[in-house]
Amino acid sequence: MERTLVILKPGALQRGLVGEVISRFEKRGLKLVAMKMKQLDQSILDVHYAHLKGKPFFPWLCSGMTAAPVILCCWEGFEAVKVVRAMAGSTNARNAAPGTIRGDYALSAQENIVHTSDSVENAQAELDRFFSPEDYCDYPSPLNQFLYAPDEK
Ligand code: UDP
Ligand code: MG
Repeated sequence: MERTLVILKPGALQRGLVGEVISRFEKRGLKLVAMKMKQLDQSILDVHYAHLKGKPFFPWLCSGMTAAPVILCCWEGFEAVKVVRAMAGSTNARNAAPGTIRGDYALSAQENIVHTSDSVENAQAELDRFFSPEDYCDYPSPLNQFLYAPDEK
């Protein structure tokens, strides 16, 4: 099954939205396989947001991402990267559709509640960046027959 990284950004923690956001992924049927709280620093953001270095908003983005701890989650499911990304909504929350996390809880292009991996390859690299093998929990999924058809993958 596919795995993807979700980061609940400092704004989610400060605004008391951690439970709400995690609940959405749980209710969708995704499986939580790793989770931790962490204070990010500039060195990890230089790598994580390397594609944005040089953008005028990069310093503000990093200030926002270090303003409080984040919650790191790994969610598992068939096509989890695509599914979770769609649940987050457009980067600029003002363009995000109602019903998405950003469309329901945010009003900003920067302060947009969640990070979600944007491809299977990036998901693997991002998960390796934030989690060690021992951080993942292996446990039964007794409801899978009610979440997926036998031929789905
Ligand atoms: N961001 C921003 N201004 C922009 C574009 C992005 O502040 O014009 C921030 C925003 O917090 C976003 C993060 O940079 O979530 C990473 O940008 P990316 O393009 O990877 O968007 P995402 O994958 O988070 O939707
Ligand atoms: Mg991105």
